Amino acid sequence: MALNGRTALVTGSTSGIGLAIVKGLAAAGCNVAVTGFGDAVEVNALAAAIASQHQVQTAYIPADVAKPAEVRAMIATAAQRFGTVEILVNNAGIQHIAQLDEFPEDEWDRIVAVNLSAAFHTTKAVLPMMKRSGWGRVINISSAHGLVASPGKCAYVAAKHGLIGLTKVTALENGRFGITANAICPGWTRTPLAEKQVTDRAAQSGRSLQDEEIQTVGEKQAIPAFTTPEQIADLAVFLCSESAATVTGAALSVDGGWVAQ
Ligand code: NAD
Repeated sequence: MALNGRTALVTGSTSGIGLAIVKGLAAAGCNVAVTGFGDAVEVNALAAAIASQHQVQTAYIPADVAKPAEVRAMIATAAQRFGTVEILVNNAGIQHIAQLDEFPEDEWDRIVAVNLSAAFHTTKAVLPMMKRSGWGRVINISSAHGLVASPGKCAYVAAKHGLIGLTKVTALENGRFGITANAICPGWTRTPLAEKQVTDRAAQSGRSLQDEEIQTVGEKQAIPAFTTPEQIADLAVFLCSESAATVTGAALSVDGGWVAQ
């Protein structure tokens, strides 16, 4: 398998896109650290099932990535468990919607901490290991909102734009060490985070969930359909492959044409 024996850590991988990336990397032969919130018994069982299905090693290493000390402990535990971390996927993300002049300050701080600062702390902690290996892959899950804005999402848009900037600096500073860094910019993707937004909008508009989904996705995208988490995971696995060895510093859209306009 293409990534046989490599070690990966995916933040926010108890759900949605992160979980699909864990499964994709495990299917490609990686040992994977699963992180994020969840019921420890359930997540451990899920991690064990993925390990046995793909004949790889997995471990659930919970941490609140909004807390730098917990991030450092999470990376140290993964390194101890697997020997190194060569693939880092910064995927944990949260959302809050309000106009800027009413945006709660604690929500701003939390969104910036989880969606942006966490990636700084994880990347800083893994780079020495990647440099020692002479090989590394950093994949930051940004968003179409890393490239364009929407009203009501000031903290999310600011953090996701910032994450693309962080990706570019990571790429520039580490290219000569065999390390690439790229951002994936999904549009609407079928996960709990996105479905909650459609449900909230349906409650306000009175439309059925199905109609609200087509309305919501079609407002932004040329293709009015959700991307699947597995489609995002396929791109992440490709970015770890040798075919993508010189793809670095890029912000890659998977968004049904959202940012083409
Ligand atoms: P999700 O809600 O299904 O999963 C989010 C994950 O992040 C969960 O595992 C959760 O436990 C974890 N998490 C949240 N706060 C955390 C914290 N403080 N510490 C540790 N873990 C934490 O969301 P998703 O839709 O799969 O989103 C994944 C990423 O993709 C996010 O960064 C999101 O912004 C981005 N994204 C999603 C969409 C979409 O339409 N779903 C579109 C563009 C970008």
